[in-house]
Amino acid sequence: MLASVLHNDKFVVEEVDKPVLTDNGAIIKVIGCGLCGSDIVKYTHKLSKDGAVLGHEVVGKIVEIKGNSDFKVGDMVVAAHHYPCFECNYCRHGNYSMCRSFKNTNIIPGGFSEYIKVDEGHLKYTVFKIPENLDLITASFTEPLSCCYRAVRRMELLKGDRVGIVGLGSIGILMGQAAKTFDTKIIGLDIKDERLKVAKEHNFDEVYNSMNLDKSLELDAIFLTAGADLSVKTALEQIRDGGKICVFASTKSDTPCFPNNEVYYRELTVYGSYSPAPSDLKKSFELLKDKKINVENMTEIYNFDKLNEAIADTLSGKIMKAFIKVGE
Ligand SMILES: [Zn+2]
Ligand SMILES: [Zn+2]
Repeated sequence: MLASVLHNDKFVVEEVDKPVLTDNGAIIKVIGCGLCGSDIVKYTHKLSKDGAVLGHEVVGKIVEIKGNSDFKVGDMVVAAHHYPCFECNYCRHGNYSMCRSFKNTNIIPGGFSEYIKVDEGHLKYTVFKIPENLDLITASFTEPLSCCYRAVRRMELLKGDRVGIVGLGSIGILMGQAAKTFDTKIIGLDIKDERLKVAKEHNFDEVYNSMNLDKSLELDAIFLTAGADLSVKTALEQIRDGGKICVFASTKSDTPCFPNNEVYYRELTVYGSYSPAPSDLKKSFELLKDKKINVENMTEIYNFDKLNEAIADTLSGKIMKAFIKVGE
């Protein structure tokens, strides 16, 4: 089968071994896979080794299955890559994405390939059957939305809270809508006016260009979805005393810190949130299925052999989100 494999900083579509179903699980024929910000970080920060196949926002069709599950051959599904053990100390505290089993489970070889293998744990926790009335690209947002939903859940927002989203890329747009399902007011901040417009079209209550703000919006909570050093400064300016900040993106350097005394005297709470719990995947699939989240006009489709272009166009801000079309 063909897969898009990393070689010397470029992805090359080449022949690799098709995964074989030896234990319980399934083989999924990939129709397409969303390009995640984390795939791009793995690539730009050189965290992936040569020979790696990325992609974990997979939609496809089950073509082989073994063992007992709710699925059958022919089912159209969306699949994510990690699930926890539910038993270790991390899991006991709800830090599912820190669970070592979570980090070690994966789809094989990765979503940017013609076929993937999932195991019985995936079938139980990370794979969902796509109904006829849900289009595949919308379904492919299950995993990225679930990461946002978990972040929102961790913040324990109150009804009516004024919630800021700093960075209005595809994740910012999803985060805002996830927060809005908790009856909050969503305020979008970005330095690009065209992104403010997109946020407005996706149900944000207010939007501001953060370069033009001369006073604090006194927000109850802020999500940092930009991955820019400047966003830490924006968060500290726009949060109210006693407010909560959720760090949801890596920055280029480790230098922008939350100052000790500001956290102390202003009684700020700084959370990190990384990846979803299985319950968040399930919830986000339901939100998409029930059309509670609008993902229209966010995605550009790229052919399988155009992964490098999709990465470059996402990095340059030309597009918000890429969907890599692999098969029929
Ligand atoms: Zn993702
Ligand atoms: Zn665990």
